[in-house]
Amino acid sequence: MPSVATRVNTERTSKKSPNRHRGVFITFEGIEGSGKSTQCRGLAEYLKDSGFWVVETREPGGTPVAEHIRDIFLQTQTNPIDSLTPETEASLVFAARSQHVASLLLPALHQGAVVLCDRFSDSTLAYQGYGRGLNISNLQRFNRFVTQGLTPDMTFVFDLPVHQGLARRRHDLNQNRIDKEVLAFHSRVRKGFLQLAQEHPRRMTIINARRSEEAIAKQMRVLVEPILQRRFRGKQISRSQ
Ligand code: ADP
Repeated sequence: MPSVATRVNTERTSKKSPNRHRGVFITFEGIEGSGKSTQCRGLAEYLKDSGFWVVETREPGGTPVAEHIRDIFLQTQTNPIDSLTPETEASLVFAARSQHVASLLLPALHQGAVVLCDRFSDSTLAYQGYGRGLNISNLQRFNRFVTQGLTPDMTFVFDLPVHQGLARRRHDLNQNRIDKEVLAFHSRVRKGFLQLAQEHPRRMTIINARRSEEAIAKQMRVLVEPILQRRFRGKQISRSQ
């Protein structure tokens, strides 16, 4: 799992408005094998080297309890009675997110961190909504409840044809329950992400994920520059530990 910043004071900050924080919240979204984890890691390294205080995290997960929930979520169940229903899937993700937001994301953002998160709310809409067919409005309502209204400042949607993404993941020996889903499921998820990006053009940017890692990394650095400038201009940049 990505390193959880040890310097985050995890005291709950629920009284503060979730989106009025001193940090920057950037999320990485996309289908399996789109390269978002690779770019999240790369951007975290780059920003740390530039002197920013960076918290690199992921969903489901990011805190010990949420990582336990992640294990249940991604495990392939051999007993049919334990085959997860779409509603169970969504509930697990929401439980993990609630813990993650309250215990790590909000405290870090209020303390001024640049938080890079591999998957967040948009994945729930794309996977459990568009992919599994759960009601999108219900998911949005529940999502607002568990996030306390926290939304990313910026979201990258890594996009490429489904078969290309899955081909990249096939080299990974640890294929999880979602990797093993049928092509049609992943296609619905991809469509979902593209639809969400169309609905939120200011927050979400589609990244052409077919290009080389280096070309994408370069684009990431250019895209985050303005928001970092705006948020931290004239301020002392926290040194990463
Ligand atoms: P995701 O987090 O979206 O599932 P990963 O970042 O884990 O994707 O990448 C999946 C696989 O594809 C890894 O083996 C990674 O090294 C490789 N990969 C990542 N980005 C690229 C790229 N731009 N071109 C080719 N392979 C890539």
